[in-house]
Amino acid sequence: MDLKELTIQKTQTGLKNKSFSSVELVKSSLEQIKKENKDLNAFLTVCEKEALDQAEKIDTKIQRYYKDIKTLFLECPLLGMPVAIKDNFCTKDIKTTAGSKVLADYSPVYDATVVDKIKQAGAIIIGKTNLDAWAHGSSGENSDFGPTKNPFDRNFVPGGSSSGSAVAVASNMVLGAIGTDTGGSIRQPASFCNIVGLKPTYGRVSRYGVIAMASSLDTVGCFGKDVIDTALLLKIMAGHDDYDATTSILSVPDYPEEMKKEIKDLKIGLPKEYFTSGLDKEIKEKIEKVIKNFEKMGAKIIEISLPHTQYALAVYYIIQPSEVSSNLARYDGIRYGFDRSQFGDEAKRRIMLGTFTLSSGYYDAYYLKAMKVRTLIKKDFEEAFKKVDILLTPVSPSLPFKIGEKTQDPLKMYLSDIFTVTANLAGIPGLSLPAGLVDNLPVGFQLLGPQFSEEKLFQAAYQYKQNE
Ligand code: GLN
Repeated sequence: MDLKELTIQKTQTGLKNKSFSSVELVKSSLEQIKKENKDLNAFLTVCEKEALDQAEKIDTKIQRYYKDIKTLFLECPLLGMPVAIKDNFCTKDIKTTAGSKVLADYSPVYDATVVDKIKQAGAIIIGKTNLDAWAHGSSGENSDFGPTKNPFDRNFVPGGSSSGSAVAVASNMVLGAIGTDTGGSIRQPASFCNIVGLKPTYGRVSRYGVIAMASSLDTVGCFGKDVIDTALLLKIMAGHDDYDATTSILSVPDYPEEMKKEIKDLKIGLPKEYFTSGLDKEIKEKIEKVIKNFEKMGAKIIEISLPHTQYALAVYYIIQPSEVSSNLARYDGIRYGFDRSQFGDEAKRRIMLGTFTLSSGYYDAYYLKAMKVRTLIKKDFEEAFKKVDILLTPVSPSLPFKIGEKTQDPLKMYLSDIFTVTANLAGIPGLSLPAGLVDNLPVGFQLLGPQFSEEKLFQAAYQYKQNE
């Protein structure tokens, strides 16, 4: 059995049946990292010794467990499994850089809530993954520690900003990974790397201990090799947290179980603004195939309109840098990290943009106006969800692009976020799923639903994958 090829579900079965050990799993993961990471640059830190030590302890625990082994895995569904964490989550005593030289030497004294939850579920943190510095980017090229490469073709970007987490899963270095999505940073790399990526509803998962990018847009989500794994990860991560007042008190559904329930008479909306001339022809063709498959499954396809979509990118690129300029003010080189001369070009660009849009005299014209249009965008979705259950859209207007292709033109780079930023502005969940390959490069599609409808997205995705 090739351990690298396993999913979380299959690994659980294997560990329960003692077909392999956690040490073997960790070794296989480390081997793959050693083989591939030099070139792919998915990991910034690998916790080799700690991971092996922990795996040994877990194996002993499994060996000595005298009760029904099933209960152990019910309590700790990720027991003994190597998982990767984006390097903008605080991890106790493990270097946490946010991809920036400002924090090159920073070692937090506490774990982010999500890291804590993943650990409680028994996961082994194998390392911290590369990202565009401060999660600013759509390609991974803004990392101060070098770009991550796409495993499908190493001349191409893997998407960003959670580039390392996506690549770690796609190249079988880990079973699952955690990331953040402020404007598409989970969904777009998932799409570029042919895996599943979820951006949950704002407030579904705690942001405590996550290095803030734009606090009203930031969400914590995950990458999996398939829909069930992704659903399981969300179940572990989600829930109210006293340390994050924006988390919801709504109870957390048993996503992996709920997703198996069939949804009858599913109504899928196609927002016509997402299928315009800017969309790559080959992507359009792939998505049309997906739509046909959904139709064959009995879903009703309805064209709808989200009329304020055309303003989304402008709104996002006002609100997000405004919040970035505020959040990055804390890095003064006195309390932690190096001084501000270490900021890269993209961070400086966003700090300047945000400082301008928040400055007196311009605040009303930019920030306040953008906030008003944000409400209209949110209302567009609310109206749409009165007519349909979920929406189906592309994730990215273009295929994965070549490393260096867009770095000289920030506007071109920002345009890659056109179909993803809307979900963050509206606070709704988005699930990115593989739609196939074009010239060996992955294409994804996106399912969007009302706030706290992750269950429904998983159901639709699961049914789709069964019938694909
Ligand atoms: N690509 C977007 C940006 O650069 C989104 C980033 C993110 O989601 N972290 O702002």
